[in-house]
Amino acid sequence: MSLTFDFVQPQPEPAADRLTLFADVILPLPLPKLYTYRVPFELNDQVVVGGRVIVQFGAKRTLSCIVAAVHEHPPKEYQAKYILEFIDDAPVVTQPQLKLFRWIAEYYLCTLGEVINAALPAALKLSSESRVQLHPAFEAETNPYPLSEQEQKVVDALSTGEEGKSMTFTEVGELLGIASFHKYIKSLMQKDVVFLFEHLQDKYSPKVLKKVRLAHQYISEAAIEQLFAQLASKSKQLDVVMRYLQRVPVYQNEHANHKGLEKAALTSAPHLSPSAVNTLIKNGVLEQFDQIVSRFPLDEDDAEAKIHFTLSEAQQTARQDIMRQFQDKDIVLLHGVTGAGKTEIYIDLIKQALDGGGQVLYLLPEIALTAQIVTRLMRVFGSRLGVYHSKFSDNERVEVWNGVLSGRFQVVVGVRSAIFLPFDNLALTIVDEEHESSYKQYDPAPRYNAREVALMMANFQGSKTLLGSATPAVETYYQTRTGRYGLVELTKRFGEAGLPEIELVDTRKSREQKTMLNHFTPELMAEMERKLALQEQIILFQNRRGYAPFINCLDCGWIPKCQSCAVSLSYHKHSHELRCHYCGYHERMVAQCPACGSRNVKTVGFGTEKLEDDLKVMLPAANVQRMDLDTTRAKNAYQQIISEFEKQNTNILVGTQMVTKGLDFANVSLVGIINADSIIHYPDFRAHERAFQMFVQVSGRAGRKGKKGKVIIQTGDPEQVIFDKVIRNDYLEFYEYEILQRREHGYPPFMRIIRLTVKHMDVSVGERAALQLTQELVDRLGREAVLGPEAPYIFRIRNFYLQEITIKLSREHTVLRAAKADVLAAIDLLRDQKEFKQVRFAVDVDPM
Ligand code: ADP
Ligand code: ZN
Ligand code: ZN
Repeated sequence: MSLTFDFVQPQPEPAADRLTLFADVILPLPLPKLYTYRVPFELNDQVVVGGRVIVQFGAKRTLSCIVAAVHEHPPKEYQAKYILEFIDDAPVVTQPQLKLFRWIAEYYLCTLGEVINAALPAALKLSSESRVQLHPAFEAETNPYPLSEQEQKVVDALSTGEEGKSMTFTEVGELLGIASFHKYIKSLMQKDVVFLFEHLQDKYSPKVLKKVRLAHQYISEAAIEQLFAQLASKSKQLDVVMRYLQRVPVYQNEHANHKGLEKAALTSAPHLSPSAVNTLIKNGVLEQFDQIVSRFPLDEDDAEAKIHFTLSEAQQTARQDIMRQFQDKDIVLLHGVTGAGKTEIYIDLIKQALDGGGQVLYLLPEIALTAQIVTRLMRVFGSRLGVYHSKFSDNERVEVWNGVLSGRFQVVVGVRSAIFLPFDNLALTIVDEEHESSYKQYDPAPRYNAREVALMMANFQGSKTLLGSATPAVETYYQTRTGRYGLVELTKRFGEAGLPEIELVDTRKSREQKTMLNHFTPELMAEMERKLALQEQIILFQNRRGYAPFINCLDCGWIPKCQSCAVSLSYHKHSHELRCHYCGYHERMVAQCPACGSRNVKTVGFGTEKLEDDLKVMLPAANVQRMDLDTTRAKNAYQQIISEFEKQNTNILVGTQMVTKGLDFANVSLVGIINADSIIHYPDFRAHERAFQMFVQVSGRAGRKGKKGKVIIQTGDPEQVIFDKVIRNDYLEFYEYEILQRREHGYPPFMRIIRLTVKHMDVSVGERAALQLTQELVDRLGREAVLGPEAPYIFRIRNFYLQEITIKLSREHTVLRAAKADVLAAIDLLRDQKEFKQVRFAVDVDPM
């Protein structure tokens, strides 16, 4: 980064009638205050609130930032620097968004810069570290847009050298020899000539299919006959053309030719000659073209799949009830058992909201769910639907962002970060599976809960909100009791499907009787064999990935630990590694103990990988697939696993929480929960709630579309109260029990919690900071409001020692506001001390 911009132009004193404007900008950095920059006079009429500008920050860094306000007051503390360049002539961040972002920063105790940083796709955050690359679909010959001289220079530079070459913004600046080059990049981006990315791994590499089609001059019977005559002596080429015509019904359907045929279907066909294919392309008989494969391919065979479902009577009633309650309530909870058909009700309500001219946001917790639901929504809403999801590249995200701004997408289905999109006219917000903890962002700040932010956004925009779940969050259900939220219930599954039968199996007994087969009880094993014989499918849930949570030398007791975290290393057999699940550190698996040299090193415990391995040996005829973080890292891996399962190529799907959610497969008749106890015994006040939700949700995957399902839960302690409620699927009884506990012990929804984490590399500095911070908080909030400090169970992560302080506050708005100000003041006080300069403080409001 050697380029510095010569931006400090001599500043003539403004004449009396010249208006000097200043802009407060939001830099994508965790700065407590907004910075003020001066607007170059000749650009006064170009400055837009919500638009991006380029400024210099620090000695060398140039960044794009968002203009939050324009005014005439120079900053008092420093001399304002000039804005270097204006990128947008219309806002990319709207007024309603700015309002929401301010609320997020205030409520979650973070900076506006952190919110902007989380909100904007990287490709909208131009900085000197951004990079440009030619768009893979760009071809100089076919590009319809004229390029300016500057733009052409950039294209030339990117097209020489290796394919996929990229340049940093700094290099582009050097190439063009000017400081204000960002507008050219923006223009190239709009013309689809280049795209931007921030990190090398974000490089855009869409799946491209090489296809061929018949050149258009041959699409008539006369022309083709002439062609046959020409090729009469060239039988190999003739064969290729014949095959093409067999596969593509050119004359019945001209559109079919336009879509063409995969080139490989010709070049790799056994009796055809690849060189003949290429000759035909060279002679212009066949045309070669690239097709970028869509992210959510609509199955061609499914083309006539049902678009319109008629709601059942129960669904109709629920829908009407929701509408009725929306008349005097802004928020309604749809509490419907798994498989009740909530999605169809959502679709109906979305249609209605769109007809009224409003926008719709449909939030889903995770992409595991989106594949099925998105396909369904695509069929109904087509090109009006935008999809926003965490595995999308930045460029894809920018496309959705701009689509919402321009009105192209009136309905967006997305994961939690979709709450940052530039809606300005929301009529309906749906938060599906509202209880899900993945709506909460843990790290980095803003540590927001998308459900709560969605409720606030809806409130700002006058939108109604529908929360949906089979196992509502205790806090949500409580609000239906207080009357703040409406409540609509669906107690039966759609159609003939009944809820599954749930059986508890005692693993302690099986262990004593030595009847366990690896980690499977004989009951589960027998049931699996039965289902496999019937060609029915099975889902197994184990809350731990990897092969084993740790390994242990049986002779000297050695257990490998992470160098940077206070955890043992998990064994991953597939990659033959020991891995830390907290920092990603990994090393080769050992054959012998490095401490004593013994070969007696054994794995302890089990994760999904071991289950998969064991099943392959125990049930060799079954096709077993695993779905967890390790098997779904690649962009389309999720969808592939799900689609294999859907096509019934997979008999048993083993996985972590990913398998517990949303999947709806007609042929699954058995669900096994391999180790229920580890989920229940978790040191957190929400452990029971989470266990109940997980068990009910995963059970909900069994027995849909008319088949009676079965669930087997393996536990060492079948007497626990929670099981009884799970077996009877009695949410209400669970709720009544849980809400008593919460009231008694002072937990949400009766109290609010703020958790502070103090981190430092040196354990004693961290402890001292935590103690002092606690004292400051006690002074301000009172002894009874502050718990800790205390080292968490995993007390060291990535070389930082952790200390936690928990603050419990009354729900009253004014109390909460004042307390938050106190928390910030206390932290600031510590930050000002020299000894604590390197201490990091993380604030989590409403931790989950
Ligand atoms: P939920 O989201 O409540 O768990 P789903 O929306 O997944 O339930 O619905 C369960 C199943 O019932 C799905 O396979 C869905 O396609 C089907 N279904 C729901 N409503 C209808 C309807 N009105 N007509 C036909 N099939 C429906
Ligand atoms: Zn040893
Ligand atoms: Zn680690």
